[in-house]
Amino acid sequence: MRTQEINTTSLDETIKLAEKIGGKLRGGEAIELISDLGGGKTTFVRGLAKGIGSKDAVRSPSFTLSNEYRANSLTLYHFDFYRLNDPGIMRDELAEVVAEPDSVVAVEWGTVVNDVLPNNRLTVEIKPTGVDSRKLIFSYPEEFEYLIENT
Ligand code: ADP
Ligand code: MG
Repeated sequence: MRTQEINTTSLDETIKLAEKIGGKLRGGEAIELISDLGGGKTTFVRGLAKGIGSKDAVRSPSFTLSNEYRANSLTLYHFDFYRLNDPGIMRDELAEVVAEPDSVVAVEWGTVVNDVLPNNRLTVEIKPTGVDSRKLIFSYPEEFEYLIENT
């Protein structure tokens, strides 16, 4: 596993960073977002969606559904398992879309579905370092180096 830390000092900077990474997505990647509430996970997904070229609105997924953000060639699936002790049908949906070559999955609070998340995934841990600043810690296998290099 490789790790890379990047600090941002504003919401916009985090979105731009995620947008850059989103622009490098090829399909088939899984991204796990880790932080406390309000850390910036959904904000990061907003940047990813922009980066794949989607104009769909990014918001927190509801308790029982995932969100889909469509672009020309890719679909970004956004899951949020916050306080879902029993992910039920969403676990099945996640298992299905992680296998699709033209799909990317982004998952908030994914511990409860760790068994269906691919071991080879990009993990983004976000730590607040101030009101408007965040430390983003990327961990990823070598095969996902293309997502992080030159960011
Ligand atoms: P989460 O999905 O982790 O609960 P959100 O993305 O919904 O978090 O919210 C992040 C909050 O932190 C937003 O209110 C955003 O404006 C604020 N924020 C402040 N600075 C930053 C930053 N550098 N990066 C990301 N979010 C930031
Ligand atoms: Mg969120």
